[in-house]
Amino acid sequence: MNKEILVTRSALPEMEEYIEEIRSIWENHWLTNMGNKHIALQEKLAEFMGVDKIELFTNGHMAIELALQALNLQGEVITTPFTFASTTHAIVRNGLTPVFCDIDPADFTMDVTKLEALITDRTSAILPVHVYGNICHVEEIERIAHKYGLKVLYDAAHTFGETYKGVGVGNFGDVSCFSFHATKVFNTIEGGAACFRDPRIGEKLYDLKNFGIHGPEEVSGIGANAKMNEFCAAMGLCNLRHVKEEIAMRKTVAERYRDGLEGLSGLRMNVIQKDVDSNYAYFPVVIEESEFGASREEVFDALAAENIYARKYFYPLTNTFEAYHGRFSADRTPAALHVSKRVLTLPLYSSLELSDVDRIVGIIRACHV
Ligand SMILES: *Cc1c(COP(=O)(O)O)cnc(C)c1O
Repeated sequence: MNKEILVTRSALPEMEEYIEEIRSIWENHWLTNMGNKHIALQEKLAEFMGVDKIELFTNGHMAIELALQALNLQGEVITTPFTFASTTHAIVRNGLTPVFCDIDPADFTMDVTKLEALITDRTSAILPVHVYGNICHVEEIERIAHKYGLKVLYDAAHTFGETYKGVGVGNFGDVSCFSFHATKVFNTIEGGAACFRDPRIGEKLYDLKNFGIHGPEEVSGIGANAKMNEFCAAMGLCNLRHVKEEIAMRKTVAERYRDGLEGLSGLRMNVIQKDVDSNYAYFPVVIEESEFGASREEVFDALAAENIYARKYFYPLTNTFEAYHGRFSADRTPAALHVSKRVLTLPLYSSLELSDVDRIVGIIRACHV
């Protein structure tokens, strides 16, 4: 049997580099609660991402959930169902109602031509998702949000390190939330961050991630606990030193796929967005069975038979989750439904060998008739 290839493989620094980084933790015995590593990573990330302000969290989900809370929203939040469970759950767990906008089939992000029709007098915010490294139509979203006085929170989990027209992607919206989960382009084992400009949002986020504790004898908010610990921050400091190289290697893998899969009828690759400096987070392909000659399921199975595990991502849509049974209808987001039934994200990580990419391409080509 061939070696197992999973859809991703977490980036790790050399073990010695991490040991060197955590040595000082043994010297000061400060393991969490905004220690030196936390503060250092916050500063280094702000610089790398080109953002003014950033708060670190225990994971990307808590960044989204608490950022929604910090924005003090009510009623309805317009979002998309073509995302990870986290986005929709964060809205619902805040007692807010998600209203699903369809996606643009070209780049899988919110279809801004459908957005305005969904705004009601109960709408308080828009929560668009940057998907696979594709950046949302940020200018149009900003225009509409401004026109109706809505807040904007981006789920930027897929777009670490990207720029749009030279501007760090974390600068868009009132808040942009990132995930540093083990499977993401940049990881802190588990971790996340929220980027924002308004210092009042920063104060709220800080309180919300630390029980609302404002001073040694002052608890002024009803916060949760979502602080990034020192070992995770140390992993972030190490991985950040190598992330440019990580992205460059991902680019080489992605380009190899692109060359190999070029010209296959019924197989559509991701768009290359102009003005976006991509991080090559994922390599999705959308397979139209009638043209390609095989279904997404058949391609998935053919790869799995060779011990290669692609991922049906995002599938199912969040508005079809069993947890939300009877509450939403995917019929209202037909483009998202169409894509989610046909998309496959192929294995992509910096250490994936080009010979393995060629093998994966060969298996996919063999499915094509
Ligand atoms: C990974 C991810 C999240 C959640 O991040 P965690 O760090 O795993 O909590 C949220 N949204 C999207 C789109 C993601 O891919």
